[in-house]
Amino acid sequence: MDFHCHLDLYPDARNVYAEASDRVEFVWLVTTSPRAFAATSKVLLASEKIFISPGLHPEVAGKRSGELEMLLSQMEQYSGVGEVGLDGSSRYKQHFELQKNIFQSVLQKSVNLGGRVLSIHSRSAAKDVLCLLESHPGYGTAVLHWFTDSPSQLSRAKEMGCWFSVGPAMVASANGRKLASLMPRDRVVPESDGPFAKVRGASVMPWEAASVASTLSEIWSIPVEEVVLLLRDNGSRLTQVLAEGKSGR
Ligand SMILES: [Zn+2]
Repeated sequence: MDFHCHLDLYPDARNVYAEASDRVEFVWLVTTSPRAFAATSKVLLASEKIFISPGLHPEVAGKRSGELEMLLSQMEQYSGVGEVGLDGSSRYKQHFELQKNIFQSVLQKSVNLGGRVLSIHSRSAAKDVLCLLESHPGYGTAVLHWFTDSPSQLSRAKEMGCWFSVGPAMVASANGRKLASLMPRDRVVPESDGPFAKVRGASVMPWEAASVASTLSEIWSIPVEEVVLLLRDNGSRLTQVLAEGKSGR
């Protein structure tokens, strides 16, 4: 399973789609803008295994904010939303207020729709992400993807019931491993974050997301077979939440 993948952005997306459909039980294909979502949905069809969600990545908030209304209406048809969130790093900070407005609108819409599952980007902005989540009770389920903030923000997220998607690239760094050691084990799912996330120079593929189990086994000091079962169980619980959302609540 792969709970955060930009499958449409691999250079050979159609082949990756075909191979992922063969080899992976479930892929959450997150998109970066409402227009990209519309285009991707025409080329790569959603299936039992490939779930495609509308999103508006905080890195493109400046350019794509005009598409917010489109996103809000797309959200009505889908139980999952992503990629959304905030990015407080120096490169994207100039549009931070705009990012916040967009994320707030997404959360408010999620509340109005009875809850959504959100794949959330929180680079250098976890504190603000968590504050906004807290101020929108009933937003649904938050999956914090590639969480890189402090242990204290992580523990706050854990208390708030957030999930975490963790990939091979994340646990390649010492800080990533430290944070993974503190995560609630029953709310961790694998992700590739490909093609952006790379290990030894190569993009992580959707079918490689599950390989995070071997590193988690070392970090958590439990046998790899147990981690595999745990991740599978977590994954089916989360896909269940997505499936329930689809039938409308
Ligand atoms: Zn991403």
